[in-house]
Amino acid sequence: MTHPVILVTGATRGIGFEAVRQLADRGCHVVLASRDIRRARQAALSIGGSITPQQLDITDDASLRAAAQEISRVHGRLDVLANNSAILLDHYESLQSLKPESLRETLDTNLIGTFRATLAMLPLLEKSVAPRIINVSSGAGQLEGGPQPWAPAYSISKTALNMLTQQLTAALPNMMVNSMCPGWCRTEMGGPGAPRTASEGADTLVWLALDAAHSLRGSFIKERQVIPW
Ligand code: NDP
Repeated sequence: MTHPVILVTGATRGIGFEAVRQLADRGCHVVLASRDIRRARQAALSIGGSITPQQLDITDDASLRAAAQEISRVHGRLDVLANNSAILLDHYESLQSLKPESLRETLDTNLIGTFRATLAMLPLLEKSVAPRIINVSSGAGQLEGGPQPWAPAYSISKTALNMLTQQLTAALPNMMVNSMCPGWCRTEMGGPGAPRTASEGADTLVWLALDAAHSLRGSFIKERQVIPW
């Protein structure tokens, strides 16, 4: 595919922003989404290339419908959906102090929001010859290696997101659906003490979007390698 059309959610900063920058450098048509269209416009302008800013809140079906209509109008299809948006509300909170409302809000964005976004974009992905969905997950959701107590709601949401990846893989035999972990990166979410840059974190996303074989499906990927769930 010469100029794939790629939607990156939550892309005004951090790993999403870096992914857009790298994808635009590679000649893709990138839809840079944010809940705030002004921030999306600023971010798109700061990069240059073929980038369309788009208002998009993954918890809001009306916003998702409007985004899908606009992408359909401008591009007529979507080749890659990068579900990058997430929230981390319970950093270093114990399970005992976690409020059920906080867990609900986390799941509403990280899991159900990702599902809503995917459903909204499916008709456009079905118009692609080789559609790809990338769910940006986290090692925090990995079952291998034992429990990690540092953000229980976030971890639960990412484990569930990984199962969503598997369910989408089973339900959509013509689509390449994978989860990925960017590694611990210096972003607003990752904080200043993280060892990796946002650009390094975006590398696997870009690889999955453009370079990985379409036969790589239903897997959890980190640093371009399959890792255990
Ligand atoms: P940031 O907090 O910097 O960015 C997250 C983005 O999510 C924001 O730009 C925000 O966009 C967007 N977002 C939040 N809620 C919504 C919503 N309801 N609808 C649409 N967008 C929303 O995070 P990172 O760049 O660090 O993380 C990107 C991804 O990587 C996340 O999925 C995260 O879980 C994952 N990850 C990050 C790690 C790290 O160390 N940084 C480690 C492992 C995984 P806006 O406000 O513009 O709408």
